[in-house]
Amino acid sequence: MKCRKCPARAVLRMPRHNTAFCSVCLTEFVRSQVQKAIKSQNMFSPNDRILVAVSGGKDSLTLWEILLKLGYRADALYVDQGIGTYSQGSREKVEQFTEQIAKPCGATLTIHNVEEEEGASIPDLANLVRRPTCSTCGTIKRYQFNQAAIQGGYDVMATGHNLDDEAARLLGNVLHWQEEYLQKQSPTLPASMEGFAKKVKPLYRLTEREIAAYAVINRIDYMVEECPMSKGAKMLVYKDVLNRLEAESPGTKHTFYWQFLAKQEKAQATHGSMTETDQTTLKPCTICSQPTSTGMCSYCKMVARANAPAQ
Ligand code: SF4
Ligand SMILES: [Zn+2]
Ligand SMILES: [Zn+2]
Repeated sequence: MKCRKCPARAVLRMPRHNTAFCSVCLTEFVRSQVQKAIKSQNMFSPNDRILVAVSGGKDSLTLWEILLKLGYRADALYVDQGIGTYSQGSREKVEQFTEQIAKPCGATLTIHNVEEEEGASIPDLANLVRRPTCSTCGTIKRYQFNQAAIQGGYDVMATGHNLDDEAARLLGNVLHWQEEYLQKQSPTLPASMEGFAKKVKPLYRLTEREIAAYAVINRIDYMVEECPMSKGAKMLVYKDVLNRLEAESPGTKHTFYWQFLAKQEKAQATHGSMTETDQTTLKPCTICSQPTSTGMCSYCKMVARANAPAQ
């Protein structure tokens, strides 16, 4: 099979675009899709400082690499969750990437260690507060990334969510008619008030397969194993369903998510953006000042519960 853009041998077939690319053209395609995402969704400009949330997996490391290769000012934050060999392995990948790729570009890595800062690993904290591990993890990661972005004076926080992630999330939100979540599901969430960083997803135009191929071609060494806590997660079921639909009808994922974005944009033009309506309901947390809709934010509530004397 030949590349559709040059005479070289193709390395990836892309049925959703009815095309195939060699390694050079695929790299060019992936970077141009990220650049398109940044421009069309007003994510950031070349002078902005970006904080990338890295996990050691292919998406976040690829995102960091692309932003650096495109000349953006991108540092990263890694949250060490204390999940046994998974956290050890992913931390090693992040540190290796920093030494080999990020540092030569002048970028820095910050590590937040949950065991040291919050007093226990994520699974232990989840036991202490009697909440599911993933919801405890989500609360801590969201909080720490936002805090690091605000305190570090970053203009925007970027995550490695891709088209598969966003389409699966959309399917979950539609199946349960989570209207509030549907309203907030966007590749760009503007800073909603003092204390809430702008959040962007520059990989939303690319599939997991395309990103994995880019990572291999560009020698990005990432953590292949998934977090052991993700077993049985609903998101994996939604991804599987969408992959089966995609195999039958290429472009399904792409159309599903992009049509949603187009409709959302139309609705926002008529009724105003989510953040304009949200501003009125958010107030600073009474403990840490991060914005919250209740008096104390969910992170502070969780930490208070974990530190409460056992009854
Ligand atoms: S699977 Fe759950 S515990 Fe693991 S990183 Fe994701 S949210 Fe955190
Ligand atoms: Zn080519
Ligand atoms: Zn708080």
